[in-house]
Amino acid sequence: MEIEKRVNGKTKLIGVIGNPIEHTMSPQLQNTIFSAIGENCIYVPFHIEKDDLEDAVKGFKALNAVGFNITVPFKKDIMKYLDEISDKAVIIDAVNTVKISNGRLTGYNTDAEGFSRAFKSESNLDFKDKKVILIGAGGAACSVAVQLVMEGAKSVGIINRTVSKAESIASKINKNFGFKIECYKPDDSRASEAFKQADIIVNATSVGMYPETENMPISTVYSFSEGQIVFDLVYKPQKTMFLKKAGDAGCKIINGTGMLFHQAVLQMKSGRAKD
Ligand code: NAP
Repeated sequence: MEIEKRVNGKTKLIGVIGNPIEHTMSPQLQNTIFSAIGENCIYVPFHIEKDDLEDAVKGFKALNAVGFNITVPFKKDIMKYLDEISDKAVIIDAVNTVKISNGRLTGYNTDAEGFSRAFKSESNLDFKDKKVILIGAGGAACSVAVQLVMEGAKSVGIINRTVSKAESIASKINKNFGFKIECYKPDDSRASEAFKQADIIVNATSVGMYPETENMPISTVYSFSEGQIVFDLVYKPQKTMFLKKAGDAGCKIINGTGMLFHQAVLQMKSGRAKD
């Protein structure tokens, strides 16, 4: 149903906050799903400044919103304003979904499962016994790392500009799962070798995202090998420079759209929309 006919006095609000937020495809996706399933909710993006995060959370509560989603760069900062956090989100140390129920705020993370579902449906493979290289060590990278380890990857290596952030993910995973992750600086020659040997390569940085579409998360010393599966979490543009180069080298390429879709469906299943 068209939005002007759908929104009325009973419509429930769901927000998404980020900075920047202008690139987000979530409102189209979520509002389309709400129309399709006949849910009287509206999904609205909000650009928030860091210092206003607490006020924004109070605002959602005061407006009796059903919940809200969180994107870059607030997935970690949001945690201090919540009453409860799911076990998986605690391990990942990032929340992308908040449900508001009886004035209480509960945080979840649906990125990890969304990544897994998208990978499996687009490659017809799983992570069991695979060698994986992950570029990036932010909230999304941590979700991906947790999921890879939970689903039986043989090895996981993380390459990140700020290597201490990769080490912090590795130490968390070692503590929770007893699994050792190798961490590399981008100029470490062991990183480019592990990259070449990997079965799966995942870009979990924001490098290459619109409008800086010419940028690559790795330097030219890195080379793809034919047959690798290369997943870029970025979904705008649909084909980042990273995916173009991987495709040219004969890799199977997957962009972030499927993950966005699957994690959005999981966000709804977190119960917000039905509350
Ligand atoms: P984040 O926590 O802010 O982490 C950003 C990561 O990108 C960090 O590893 C950071 O490195 C790296 N980075 C940023 N600028 C860089 C640069 N110029 N050179 C090298 N590295 C750089 O963000 P996030 O939440 O993890 O999200 C990362 C990306 O995944 C975003 O593009 C986001 O839109 C996308 N994402 C997509 C989905 C989906 O459903 N498809 C879901 C979640 C996230 P440092 O640690 O050195 O700063």
